[in-house]
Amino acid sequence: MFNFLKEKIKSWIKTSEEKLEKKEEVVSAIKEKTKKPKKQTLEKKKAEKIEQPIEEGLTKEQIKEEREISEKIIEDIKKEKLEIKPVEEKIKEKFEEERKLEEERREGQAKPEKRGFFARIKEKFTAVKITEDEFEEIFTRLELILLENNTALEVVEKIRQDLKEKLVDKEIKKEDLEKEIIESLKTSIEELLIEPENLIEKIKGSNETFVIAFFGINGSGKTTTIAKLAHLLKKNNISCILAACDTFRAAAIDQLQKHGDKLGIKVIRSQYGADPTSVAFDAVKHAKAHSIKAVLIDTAGRMHTKENLIREMEKLVKVIRPDLKIFIAESITGNDLIEQAKTFNEAIGLDGAILSKADVDEKGGSTISLSYIIKKPIFFLGTGQNYDDLEVFNKKKIIKSLGLD
Ligand code: GDP
Repeated sequence: MFNFLKEKIKSWIKTSEEKLEKKEEVVSAIKEKTKKPKKQTLEKKKAEKIEQPIEEGLTKEQIKEEREISEKIIEDIKKEKLEIKPVEEKIKEKFEEERKLEEERREGQAKPEKRGFFARIKEKFTAVKITEDEFEEIFTRLELILLENNTALEVVEKIRQDLKEKLVDKEIKKEDLEKEIIESLKTSIEELLIEPENLIEKIKGSNETFVIAFFGINGSGKTTTIAKLAHLLKKNNISCILAACDTFRAAAIDQLQKHGDKLGIKVIRSQYGADPTSVAFDAVKHAKAHSIKAVLIDTAGRMHTKENLIREMEKLVKVIRPDLKIFIAESITGNDLIEQAKTFNEAIGLDGAILSKADVDEKGGSTISLSYIIKKPIFFLGTGQNYDDLEVFNKKKIIKSLGLD
């Protein structure tokens, strides 16, 4: 999972870093020149600097800005009358000046805002300041990468705001640039994800029969995921039954029955076309009568109209009052997934989600988007077609898969 996204984010960080470092190259080139104790006139230095090929690949504005920075430094040098002495001497002098200033400062004799020239020039050589325009330019590439990889628009916007706040107009040391970008991106994505409660512990800790209703459109892996969860409960010695409430498809009832038979778990079912709420009601009643700890309710994924589906879901939720309403979706669905999640959430108020087919999702944008959209956790990721292929959702693992740890 995240193969595409991980690689693209990595390359974005690298190129952004290179781009931002260009500014610094110009300044560093002047530093190189001043190191050599050649007797050069200031004019000659300036002329050489302008002819330097280091400006290649920069925009006109950047070249202009960098020339201004260079000229400012040269002006500073001129003011300080440093251009005719060998650099070692200048450095020595400046360090001495700095040391004296520091001493004076400590003794409270110097004005606290007075900073030595060398300290200022050193800062210019080692720090990069990202302007808003530069940020927007480099972020446009990340925006495309995120959108291409199924990230929801709202999520892209949040990442943009977070990064902007952390990076724009801040002095960032050259050697810290990559670290700063990764750190900001990591924090931003961490904030998008919600760590789920331990579902097994939650069910075990419940005094009553714990009812979970599952929602999602057909083909999203709903039946398989319910079976995987039933298998997990069984492994944890939690008794459970399944309720076949997708009565709009005869095949759905049979499919759930097949899983139940394979797992040795009872399925409460009715006829094709029966009222789903009444099937769910029977299942809960049966569980309570037999001290069964959990009921997993499968619901319909598609009906003649969306309104019908929503009314049916609302009715089931109102009558049964499940302890959890979980949305199941394929992580590979892309932007439609976000639309589906919003529809289900508005209709019944979801408590969380499970994303199936994470094993075949190379993009991963849905996984980082869903929690943020519904403001609820993802409990599990489906990672294959076997009953054991259900992984507890883990923030740290996601961050690691994205190469941001
Ligand atoms: P439903 O119509 O929503 O109930 O979907 P199903 O449970 O029938 O699943 C549809 C297909 O997706 C089946 O072939 C499943 O084996 C497959 N499937 C479900 N979950 C996963 C998963 O996590 N990974 C993979 N690779 N396939 C899955």
